[in-house]
Amino acid sequence: MGANNYYDILGVKKDTSDKDIKQAYRRLARKYHPDVNPGDNSAEAKFKEVNAAFEVLSDKEKRRKYDKYGDKWQYADQLDEAARQQSQYRQYTTGDSSHFGGDIGGMDSLFDELFGGARSRGFSRRSQPRRGQDLETSVEVTLEEAFNGSSRMINLQDEQPCSTCHGTGRIQNLPCSTCRGAGVVADIKRLEVKIPAGVTSGSRVRISGKGQAGYGSGPSGDLYLNVTVAPHPVFQRQGTDLTVEIPVPLTVAVLGGEIQVPTPKGGKLALKIPPETQNGRVFRLGGQGMPHLGKSTRGDLKAKVNIVIPTKLTEKEKELFRQLDQLRPA
Ligand SMILES: [Zn+2]
Repeated sequence: MGANNYYDILGVKKDTSDKDIKQAYRRLARKYHPDVNPGDNSAEAKFKEVNAAFEVLSDKEKRRKYDKYGDKWQYADQLDEAARQQSQYRQYTTGDSSHFGGDIGGMDSLFDELFGGARSRGFSRRSQPRRGQDLETSVEVTLEEAFNGSSRMINLQDEQPCSTCHGTGRIQNLPCSTCRGAGVVADIKRLEVKIPAGVTSGSRVRISGKGQAGYGSGPSGDLYLNVTVAPHPVFQRQGTDLTVEIPVPLTVAVLGGEIQVPTPKGGKLALKIPPETQNGRVFRLGGQGMPHLGKSTRGDLKAKVNIVIPTKLTEKEKELFRQLDQLRPA
């Protein structure tokens, strides 16, 4: 694992519990959040790093892969599969490991082999036309990305018709040596996908025709993105509504005034606080919440008043509060 080890980024040990990882993330995300550090590029970079680390370490499956393969964790399935196939192949080719370039122990050589051109997979395929398989992958986005819509580069395990035998698996009636008769070779497809505004955790985005290629003249399958939206340190989401706590000074709550409310767009909105506003009161800012998926309308932003009691009072201030206390009817 490199210098940017996800555990180091979150400042936790490798055997840390999920709960402690969440706590470390919350603390760091608050510290480096762009709302708290406007214009600070290093804080923003740190914020992204922390989010990337949390995305992996908060997901049981991703964390397991990360522990096993480090920064190549995204290729864990392919690496596991390649390791399995290599050990099988070895059994059939008593003692001859030269096909795989000698020693086949290390992960890096496996990785090179998988992505470096030596492709070999042992399935047999019939060549009649058939629709390609649907593919599925998971994508995590930030709340801001869910608000604006975003795009992602993703890596998909794929297979391509073998170019040596043109997918037939045979050359002059002998099994093709490139694909070992399968007619297809394994491939990694890099693809940019669009994630629409308004997605929520659990959204399944279908990307038509981006699954596995069809066989023969069959159509391609579809690609499905299983979306998760990462928790946000400032906004809490309920469907298309967002709640944000706004600190209101005691004097403003008592006498009335104006308060700035952060919005998911990134800006701030002025909110009028009427005199004698109680703690916990919620003001609804219509149409300032999350987009409805596939529509141009939006939910509401709910600003929840959190009255801030002044601290470090001077003697004079204390005296005024005492006078106030005596003035108030019991
Ligand atoms: Zn071939």
